[in-house]
Amino acid sequence: MKKKNETIQRPISLQPGESASVVSPIYPSVVYASETPDMLDDQYEGRIQGYTYAREGHPNATALAKQIDLLEQTDGGIITGSGMAAITAAIMGTLSSGDHVVGGDQLYGRSLRLMKSDLPRFGIEVSLTDVTDISKVKNAIKSNTKLILIELVSNPTLRVADISGIVSLCREKDIKLLVDNTFTTPKAFKPMNAGADIVVNSVTKLLAGHSDVTLGYVVAKDKTLNKSIYDFVVTTGLTPSPYECWLAERGLMTFPLRFDSSQATALGLAEYLAVNENVDRVIYPTLPDHPDAAHVRQNLGSNGCNIVSFELKNKTREAANRFVKQLDGIAFAPTLGDVGTTLSHPASSSHRGLSEDERLTLGITEGFFRVSVGLEDISSLRGKFELALKHT
Ligand SMILES: *Cc1c(COP(=O)(O)O)cnc(C)c1O
Repeated sequence: MKKKNETIQRPISLQPGESASVVSPIYPSVVYASETPDMLDDQYEGRIQGYTYAREGHPNATALAKQIDLLEQTDGGIITGSGMAAITAAIMGTLSSGDHVVGGDQLYGRSLRLMKSDLPRFGIEVSLTDVTDISKVKNAIKSNTKLILIELVSNPTLRVADISGIVSLCREKDIKLLVDNTFTTPKAFKPMNAGADIVVNSVTKLLAGHSDVTLGYVVAKDKTLNKSIYDFVVTTGLTPSPYECWLAERGLMTFPLRFDSSQATALGLAEYLAVNENVDRVIYPTLPDHPDAAHVRQNLGSNGCNIVSFELKNKTREAANRFVKQLDGIAFAPTLGDVGTTLSHPASSSHRGLSEDERLTLGITEGFFRVSVGLEDISSLRGKFELALKHT
């Protein structure tokens, strides 16, 4: 009998037969083989679809990007290794030394840090302002302003930006508008439809939803700008791993259901906290006393999303410690969008870098908490809060 060749070799092509897999396969391959140099030309010049090297793209990133594109009603989305990678690529792919960018003064902590500490080192001027007030945004604009970065709903004070005013201003002055849609998600708000030029999401939060992956998404409406953001991602290696993209795609399948459920429970919790005798004030976008009610109605409709902020009557660190200790079964963790409800205390976490006076200007006392509502049922959640609030 003739001896078979004993040398192992690649690539082996797997033949799954005529039937198709329902679940996306995971493609860990870093490299992809092409048949000829002509085929590589066709690929790089966009005549055929294919992959060459995973830093430049891979099937699991494409699969995830396409799903989020559908939610955001856009196309050409780029998956990055984190939400911050997406924000960095959006800014660095758009701006050059000598340009000026305006940001909301209550952006996500690391976005603020990027704006304040890093961009100026590269010759990019930065101004931060209150984006709920269009006259302040107008005052911040300079002749070299090229970009405005906002979050529709701010963290943790849940103020709502005047995005229609900002869109008009951007059109008039030829400024690009970048919207971080992480808090609101494409279920509650579609920035492109509202007039944004670039949209980013931290996929880590509600979209993936299970606190087991760190990923981001960025897309620009203008194809040339989208390509320059993509090139920045590839050059600087802000690339996502196939396995994480696969996990996020799996999480994303239930995102619309999770969002609806968490949002309904968040409203119920907000209404409950508003009448609890140990709570001083509650902030939730669709409560009637919200300071930016007109912006909420215009942009979010009846969506309040899944975050509720509130302040204890007793605004001392001692009361805050007792409250957290007694709140059984709820993770005291500074994240949002998990399937489980999480609680954060901005004074000791996200906003600890500010002085006490700066925190008080934002209304963030020791008694201020932010809740990211998960999938528990409302009666169980209410019971837990009621019990813990009694100890404050
Ligand atoms: C978490 C978050 C980010 C950063 O996302 P990562 O995936 O953690 O890098 C950006 N913006 C907002 C609003 C966030 O909540």
